[in-house]
Amino acid sequence: MKVELIGITKTVGAAIESKMDTSSENAATDTLAEFAGRTCYLSYHKPNSATRSNADYLANILKQGHESVLEHSSASFYVEGVSRNLLIELERHRFLSFSVVSTRYVDANKLNTVIPPAFGGGVHAVEGRDWFDYNYAFKTLRDQGKTFKQAREAAAYYLPGGLETRFVVSGNFRAWRDVVGKRISPQANAEIKMLAEKVLSILVSQSPNSFQDLKGLLDE
Ligand SMILES: Cc1cc2nc3c(=O)[nH]c(=O)nc-3n(C[C@H](O)[C@H](O)[C@H](O)COP(=O)(O)OP(=O)(O)OC[C@H]3O[C@@H](n4cnc5c(N)ncnc54)[C@H](O)[C@@H]3O)c2cc1C
Repeated sequence: MKVELIGITKTVGAAIESKMDTSSENAATDTLAEFAGRTCYLSYHKPNSATRSNADYLANILKQGHESVLEHSSASFYVEGVSRNLLIELERHRFLSFSVVSTRYVDANKLNTVIPPAFGGGVHAVEGRDWFDYNYAFKTLRDQGKTFKQAREAAAYYLPGGLETRFVVSGNFRAWRDVVGKRISPQANAEIKMLAEKVLSILVSQSPNSFQDLKGLLDE
């Protein structure tokens, strides 16, 4: 699975540069969220010492659930080596935007077959395509001691949903926070959980203060 950041919000212009320290080490996206929040109260002069740093300011925003200020920054990712099963689940998140390889225009033989994480993950190259039988996969995993859910989840890849897809996906930070919060969970599909972890890991490194409360999800 490849999850690559291909676009992220920057700040420009006198309005923000005159009111915020845009040359600080803070990420532009974190600065933008603080600027948006301070605009609500015209508090650019930082009257509250407890929230003077960007990290503390955004920690308070997150604690209060004032998350609309996180909608101003967006991040876009290019994803490949994931299954169409994953895409069906990810597309349920209504605030994400997608551009997906078309199976009407692109020969599916150019796409790999995704190996479910329960069988080790990765992709079968086209030349080695090996369409396992659904029932065979289910029985094999049950015999290996996997749960019904793990075995069914993996066997479903041998339906056409296991075909690889590639896409560009974009979302604002509030939307990404919601997605990773729901998908980094033991209840989530193993493959989408992996994608959510990769997305969160990138967003934490790019915009640490906007995702500070979710960082712990990566350790679980
Ligand atoms: C572990 C797991 C198991 C799942 N299993 C199933 C399953 O078996 N079957 C199935 O169909 N789906 C399943 N889903 C998908 C799930 O029901 C949601 O469709 C998906 O997680 C997207 O969540 P959302 O609707 O909250 O997110 P988004 O569409 O991203 O919306 C984000 C938030 O915006 C608000 N919102 C968005 N639209 C509306 C609206 N119309 N009205 C009011 N508020 C709105 C809500 O607060 C929502 O949480 C599963 C999800 C998970 C994480």
